[in-house]
Amino acid sequence: MIEADRIVRSTCPYCGVGCQVNLHVREDRIFKVDAPFDVAPNFGRLCVKGRFGVDFVHHPARLSKPLIRKDFGRTPRQPVGVEGFREATWEEALDLAAERIANIHRQHGPEAFGTFASAKVTNEDNYVFQKFVRGVLGTNNIDHCARLCHAASVTALTIAIGSSAMSNSIAEMKDLEVFIVTGSNTSETHPVISTFLREAVVHNNAKLIVVDPRKIEMTQFAEVWLRQAIGTDVAIFQAMAQVIVAEELYNQEFIDARTEGFKEYAQSILDCTPEWAETVSGVPADDIRKAARLYANAKAAAIYWGMGISQSVHGTDNALSLANLALLCGHLGRPGTGLNPLRGQNNVQGASDSGGLPHVFTAYQPVNDDEVRTRFENYWGVRLNPQPGLTVMEMVDAAARQVIHCYYIMGENPLMSEPDLKHSRHVMENMEFVLAQDIFINESSEFADIILPATSFAEKSGTFTNSDRRVQLIHPAVPAVGEARDDWSILCDLAKRVEGKLGRTTSAGFDYADPAAIWQEMAALTPAFQGIDHPRLERENGVHWPCPSPDHPGSPYLFEDTFPRGKGIFTPLVVTPGAEVPDLEYPYILSTGRVLFHWHGGTMTRRSKLDDIYPEPTVEIHPQDAVAIGLNPGDWVKVRSRRGEIKVRTLITERSPAGMVFIPFHFAEAAANELTHDQRDPKAKIPDYKMCAVQLEPA
Ligand code: SF4
Repeated sequence: MIEADRIVRSTCPYCGVGCQVNLHVREDRIFKVDAPFDVAPNFGRLCVKGRFGVDFVHHPARLSKPLIRKDFGRTPRQPVGVEGFREATWEEALDLAAERIANIHRQHGPEAFGTFASAKVTNEDNYVFQKFVRGVLGTNNIDHCARLCHAASVTALTIAIGSSAMSNSIAEMKDLEVFIVTGSNTSETHPVISTFLREAVVHNNAKLIVVDPRKIEMTQFAEVWLRQAIGTDVAIFQAMAQVIVAEELYNQEFIDARTEGFKEYAQSILDCTPEWAETVSGVPADDIRKAARLYANAKAAAIYWGMGISQSVHGTDNALSLANLALLCGHLGRPGTGLNPLRGQNNVQGASDSGGLPHVFTAYQPVNDDEVRTRFENYWGVRLNPQPGLTVMEMVDAAARQVIHCYYIMGENPLMSEPDLKHSRHVMENMEFVLAQDIFINESSEFADIILPATSFAEKSGTFTNSDRRVQLIHPAVPAVGEARDDWSILCDLAKRVEGKLGRTTSAGFDYADPAAIWQEMAALTPAFQGIDHPRLERENGVHWPCPSPDHPGSPYLFEDTFPRGKGIFTPLVVTPGAEVPDLEYPYILSTGRVLFHWHGGTMTRRSKLDDIYPEPTVEIHPQDAVAIGLNPGDWVKVRSRRGEIKVRTLITERSPAGMVFIPFHFAEAAANELTHDQRDPKAKIPDYKMCAVQLEPA
C-alpha cells in the first residue's frame, strides 16, 4: 500500500453536489481520492468522477507557460494547437495583453469587450474577474455557462419568489416524503444526490414522481413516471395544478398568507384538464391525476429539476409551472419542501453569486440599483456602468455585428458549450483580440492570441459554492504546474497593467494578500455573505449562505417566513410549441445531455482515465428506429441537422422513446452543438439544447 506524504481536504472539481474529498498525495502527485464520512454534503460518498477522475491535474498537456500565437494579430484566425503558439514570459504576455486591451478600449470604448467568468474557478477568482470587467473595462458584458444551463430557472424563480437559489439542502433529501424529479438524469448528472434521493425511497418509503421522456435510472424508483413527449412539460404541470384546484387539494392558508394572483391563475387553468394534457403530451390522464394527488396531499413535498426543464425555448415557463405548483400546495419554506434547480458545474452557483452575470454584482445585487452601485463605487473608488450588460449569446450577436472586438475567456469553453457552433466559430475567427486563461488548451483557446496558464483546483486555495448554497474551501495539495498562476493573481497583475496603459490615476484596487482577503472584501460588499470568512469555513467545513452575521448559523433552507419579493406570485402560462419540430426531411428529435463518466466539454474527464471507460461519442437510438434506419449496435452513424453533421457510434436502447435520439455533449470530435440551433427562451435568453430536428444515416 502506498503511504501518503499528506492528505489534503478539498472540494470535488466536477458537479454541483460539491462533495468533500481527501486528496492523498505522494511525491507531489495525487494517487488516491476518498471522502470523509463525517462531513456534509456527501458523508463519505463519491461518484466515479470524484474518486477516479482528478488525474487530469497531472496530465502532460497542462499549460505551464504563457503562450502567444505565432501569427499574432492576423485575422481571420484559424484554430491552432500548441504548436501554433510560442512560449513567452509572464512579463511579455501580460504587457502585450494589456496593450491590446487598452488599444481596443481607446478605439471602441467599454462595450467592445465580451467576457466569460467561470463556473470552474473559485468565488474569489470570479469576484476579481467581475471587478476587473466592471471597474477597469467599464462594462457589464460578463456572463458564464450558467446562462446555458439554468438561466431559465433563475429567471422563473426570480419572477415567482424573488430568489433563484436552490431552496433546500442536500441533507434534507434522505428524509423526503414526496418529491418530483423532472428534466434531471440525476444518477448520472448529480450521482451522489441521487443516492440520497434513492435512499429516501428505499429506506424511508418516500414517493417519487419522475417526469421525463427518457427511461432514466430514477424511473426504477418512481411511484409514478410521467413519460411526456419532449417539450410538453408545461402541459403536464398545468394539468397537475388543474387537478389540485378542481379537487380543492391546495393549501388555502398558505395561498392567503404568502401568495398573490391565485384567482387569476386558477381561472387560467380551468381548461387544462388531464385529458387535454394527455392529447398534448401523450401521458395518460389518470397518471397525471395520481401525481397531482400525491404531491398535493403530502405534508412536505419537494421538486428537483435539471437542464431538461431549463434548456428550452420555453424554459422560463417550464420552471414557472413548477413554481406555481409549489405555491399552490404551500410546499416551500419548510424542511423537505422547496424548489430546487440542481446546478451543473461545481461552482456554477458561486460564479453567479460572485457577480459573474451581466445585470448583478455579488449575491444578485442589481447593477442598475443606485444604492447598490454607489456602495461598490465607494469601496472600489471608481465610477461604474449602470447599464446591464450582454448575455453569452447576445455577446455572440454583438461580435457578429462587430460591436464586440475582444473576448476575455477565463476557464470556459464557449466553442463546445454554445449552440450552432459553426456560427460561434465564425465570430471567433474575426475577433480583433482573444485572451484565454485556462489549465488546458481547448476548442476556444485554439482561437486565442494569448493564453495564460492557470492553476487547477488542486493547486490553490479559495472557495466553491455548491448547488445548495454551501460555501466550501479548497486547499493546495500539489505545486502549480510550471509557471501557472492562480486566476485572481493573474487578473490583479493584468488589471494594474491595463489601468497603467489607460493612464488612470485612480485604481479599483487589485492588491490582495491571498484569497481569504478577497473573500473579506466580497463579504464587506455583500450582506448575505457577511457572516462567512475563511477561518469559519475551516472550522465548520462549510456554511450555507445567506449568513448575514458571524453568529448566524447559515441557511440550509430558505423562505421560512417570507420570500425575497414579499409574496410569491402565480403566473398564468400558455403552452407553446418547440422551436424546431421534426418533419419529413429531419424526422427525429435530438436531445443532448451528460453521461456519468464525462463532464461538460470533456476538458478534464477526457484527460483522465475515465476516458478509457467511455472513449467515443454515441447516439442513443430506440430499437424500432435502429431497424428503420438499418443500424446495428456499435455502427457509426451520421447525424445531420440544418446546421451541421457529426459522426457517432450507435447505442441501441429503449431509454429514449422511438422518434427521439440522445447525444452526450462531451466529445469535441463529434460536438453535439454542431447540430443544435440558437433559438432562445425570450426571457432568460437560454438556447434550446433539448429539441432540434435531425436525420440519421449509416456512416
Ligand atoms: Fe464530484 Fe459530483 Fe461526483 Fe460528488 S457527485 S464526486 S461532486 S462529480
